Order: sequence, then structure tokens, then C-alpha cells
Amino acid sequence: MSVIKNKKATTAAALCLAVVLFFCSCGIYKGDDEKSEKQLFAMDTVIELTSYGKNSEAALEKVAEKIKELEKELSTTEENSAVNKINTANGKAVAVSGNVLVPLRASLDISEKSGGALDVTVYPVVKAWGFISKDYRVPEEIELMRLLDKVNYKNITVGDTGVVVPSGVEIDLGSVAKGYASQVVCEMLKESGVEGAVVSLGGNVQTVGRKPDGSKWRVAICDPDNPDGGITGTLTVGEAAVVTSGGYQRFFERDGKKYHHIIDPSTGNPADSGLKSVTIVCPDGTYADGLSTALFVLGLEKAMDYHEKYGGFEAVFVSDDGTVTVTDGLKDSFAPS
Ligand code: AMP
Ligand code: MG
Repeated sequence: MSVIKNKKATTAAALCLAVVLFFCSCGIYKGDDEKSEKQLFAMDTVIELTSYGKNSEAALEKVAEKIKELEKELSTTEENSAVNKINTANGKAVAVSGNVLVPLRASLDISEKSGGALDVTVYPVVKAWGFISKDYRVPEEIELMRLLDKVNYKNITVGDTGVVVPSGVEIDLGSVAKGYASQVVCEMLKESGVEGAVVSLGGNVQTVGRKPDGSKWRVAICDPDNPDGGITGTLTVGEAAVVTSGGYQRFFERDGKKYHHIIDPSTGNPADSGLKSVTIVCPDGTYADGLSTALFVLGLEKAMDYHEKYGGFEAVFVSDDGTVTVTDGLKDSFAPS
């Protein structure tokens, strides 16, 4: 691992919602000079789609439709969503499509490996803090303890007849849904024959192919202290998912204290593991998303243990004191600001 001590990013970027993309200004696309862009709001975030090459425009139209479909299926709040059906089935099995099974299985795998740092059954606690209704509040300890009784990913059964959660247990795929969506969308774009593409769903970025000039993509990591413009550094990647989880992405303040949306399932409180953000680089969008949330909860030391034990991804950690730590596999591709 490499540690950059007390790195304070000061570089101003025009816009840095979560992760910013740099498209090389000197890029010359030698094929059909079709570049298509599309923006939409879905899954509670701004989604930006960029694609190069033949069929780009038509491909992005289909992709936008697909994202809306996935939103309907994976939302906790849409009455007819698959997730809502699971949460209101009172312990009965609910047959679901791969769009639920794939992210759910990935999430359960990471839950097992992280000792429950990622836990899709933490939803009632997320609700109690007001992160779903946006009616924010600080729950009493006793309320959190009562809610935590039902929080345990081991309560979920994924069987031949569908997904079963006991009465009172509720799931929320919010920690993996955007990454799953970017994975699906990138597969669609590849199949449609586009030359290169970037999809960005809030803090989730995933790329297809190469930039028009054949070079790799540059993805900026937001400075958690200055998310509206600052960057901590840039990553140069080929085809990959680059996903950031951070307390700065969604939070509210009470009595001068900040409370963010990533909950430590062992306490019911916002995770306080010494990290401001975690960025995962991984071939699979769903895993990148799940891992960024899980490792944020685990904290640097346990996250590095996870990396060593299971591998399959690289990471950039920004600690509370501003220290930036990168895993060895990113030594040549991460450039601090
Ligand atoms: P992300 O933005 O991908 O890090 O995921 C955070 C979202 O996942 C939150 O908005 C909650 O809906 C949900 N969530 C919060 N904490 C956890 C957790 N420990 N495990 C699983 N999901 C969580
Ligand atoms: Mg996540």
C-alpha cells in the first residue's frame, strides 16, 4: 500500500458531484465521429451517459429506459417494486428476476466476507434516521437497539421459489443498486457495438472500451472536504467500475454534528471508522458498489485485511485526517492532486 500523508486536495474542478470524468481534449476519434450524451435523473441521482461510435444515440436511449426499469424494480419506495413486495410479504417467498437476485447475492457474499459490515437488512435503521423520508432525526439509542434486533443478513433466504425475509425484516439494495445498474448498462453498450462509453450514476462510474483516441479513461476522485469542486486525485483506468462511498455524499446536521447515510450495522449509527471516503476500482460494477460501502464501514485496517484476503479489486481510501492510502495495484494509475 502507498500512503500519501495529509494530502489536501486544492485543485478546483468545474464540477465534482462525486467523481468527475476527464475527456482528453486532444482526442481524435478515427471511426464514425459519433459521440452521444444523455442525462437523466433516476435512482435518486443525476445520471450521465456518454458513448462513442456507431449506434451510440440509439444505444443510450435503450440504456436510459433500462435504468428506469431497474429503478422501478429495485426501489424500496415504489409500491410495486420487487423489493417492496419482498418487504411486505410477511415471510412468504417472493419470486424475483435476476435484477434482484444478482445484486442481492453479491451483497450477501460481501456481507459474509466483511462480517456484516454490509447488510441489506439495515433498512429500518436507515429509515429511522430519516434518510428515506428526508425528514432527518437522531433516533434514541433504545430505538436503534430495538431496530437492530431484526438486522441480520442471515435472515434472508434466497431459494428456488424466490426470496424470503421474515416478517419485520426489510431489505434495501441501495448500497449495490447503482453499481448493478452501471454493470447492466455497460454490458448493453458493449453488445450494441459502441467503441467506448462512460456511465456515471452519482458516485458510480463505469467505463466501456477506450477513449476515442485509444487511450485510457481518467476518473477523478472527489475531495470529501470540497465535493463541489475539489479533487483528491485522478485514476487512469481501462474498462472498469470506479465507485466511491463517502459520508459527504448524503448527510444532515444537528447541533453542529454531521450524520451521514452509511450505517454501521453493529451500532445502528453512521459508520465512524476513521474514513471520509472509499473508492473501489473493480471489473464488476455491483461488487465495486457493495465493496465501497462495506469497506467504508470497516475502516482502513480491516479494509486492507479484506483486500489482502479476497482481492479482486483495488481501492483508494481518504482518512479523516486527510491521509490518502492506495492499494498497490493502483500505484501507477493513481495521481494525487
Ligand atoms: P452507498 O452510497 O453505495 O455507499 O450506499 C449507501 C446506501 O445503502 C444508504 O443510502 C442506505 O440506503 C444503504 N446502507 C447504509 N448503510 C448500509 C450498510 N451498512 N449495508 C448496506 N446498506 C447500507
Ligand atoms: Mg455502495
